[in-house]
Amino acid sequence: MCGIIGVFNHKGAAELAALGMFAEQHRGQESCGMAVSDGKVFTLRKKMGLVKQVFTPEILGKMKGKVAIGHVRYPTKGSATAYNSQPHTVESLYGATYALASNGDVVNYYEVKEELERKGVYFNSENDGELILKYIIYQIQAEGMTIVEAIKSMMKKIKGAYSTVLATPDKLYMIRDPYAIRPMVWGKMKNGTVIVASESCALDIIGVENRLEVPPAGIIEVSERDIKIFENDPNDYRFYPEERHCIFELIYFSRPDSFHFDENVYEVRKKIGAMLALKDDVQPDVVVPVPDSANFMAVGYANQKNCYFSMGLIRNHYVGRTFIKPEQSSRDESVSQKFSTLPNFFTGKKVVLVDDSIVRGTTIKQIVNMIRKAGAAEIHLRIGSPAVKNSCYYGIDTPNATELIANQKSLEEIRDYAGADSLKHIELEDLLKCVKTNEYCHACFSGVYPIKLG
Ligand code: SF4
Repeated sequence: MCGIIGVFNHKGAAELAALGMFAEQHRGQESCGMAVSDGKVFTLRKKMGLVKQVFTPEILGKMKGKVAIGHVRYPTKGSATAYNSQPHTVESLYGATYALASNGDVVNYYEVKEELERKGVYFNSENDGELILKYIIYQIQAEGMTIVEAIKSMMKKIKGAYSTVLATPDKLYMIRDPYAIRPMVWGKMKNGTVIVASESCALDIIGVENRLEVPPAGIIEVSERDIKIFENDPNDYRFYPEERHCIFELIYFSRPDSFHFDENVYEVRKKIGAMLALKDDVQPDVVVPVPDSANFMAVGYANQKNCYFSMGLIRNHYVGRTFIKPEQSSRDESVSQKFSTLPNFFTGKKVVLVDDSIVRGTTIKQIVNMIRKAGAAEIHLRIGSPAVKNSCYYGIDTPNATELIANQKSLEEIRDYAGADSLKHIELEDLLKCVKTNEYCHACFSGVYPIKLG
């Protein structure tokens, strides 16, 4: 999971891009980067660390230009190193003239990479974004294609999830895979500046007034003269599958104030909570969320049951998200530093504890233990997603099914492992009742993968 941002035609493009990246920081905290064009070439800066650490006012002040693209990274393919960070650039004699940032995972990465390497293309990273960029550049330089033809050729060749922004010194391209798996929205500021982002919360903070989805299999070319939208054409090079948006974006990844795939994220989470309550016999003394992504689920649960809601768990926001910490040791450490219980709050209470998902089981076991020690009489776990049994190959770090607790243990064994009195997940068919269409990927629950692997 990563976040992208693109800014076209603003003299403070770097500052706006940094603002958008900051809004999307929850999508990736390992590294970040930005490329800014002065009209001729790009200045590139990418480093390990958070946006505010890497892009200080002094640094941003030196990144002059009207076109900028940025990226916050949570590593999926390729290790957590600066050279795997994005954006990627391609150099000419005069400097970098193309820059690209992408969110998603390419499923035929090794096949396409090896094909390009056999043709003499050199790679500096193990990152999907670089593959997409190098494929496009090869089509332009070796096959004589225009940039739009080269992007179309890439979309025919490369399979997987990609919400991608590509910039030349005087143009910006938004590119989205045919299934529109990862979110991607764009819009204009009052002064005509065009912004594209992974999440609408980034557009909101920058001051974009409208908000449009980049169409599935779409290419949007932005220049000073106009904006051209190349939608999918069945007679063209692409096929038109049904869209398959990642339903986990609505459950966990995205910020609650974002708007994705025609859904308010926080509203969907409230509906999930209400659905959990509808199917539940337990009448708790208090409903407590595991903050932050389960907050609105717990609100929905409490509203539906007409029972007491409280933030009994306190989260330290200066520790990153546990799910998106790549190493298990750093995950364990983060959980114990991240949560604490309100003093004298849980004593003797029957608690419904709402969480968004159980992936490895690490977090929930420690939290249940913490609440038990705080004196709770009963702890009933209610989970706002079905059991996660399958790996994701479209941009989320669950590559190995053996790491998924639901793949290794039965529901009863997980309840016992977590130390809870009961455990229930939302059923997939009930989850799908909480969204407006069935055009969602839910492969990590159902095993039904929209894009064939390998
Ligand atoms: Fe999202 Fe799961 Fe599909 Fe991956 S497999 S895209 S996490 S719904």
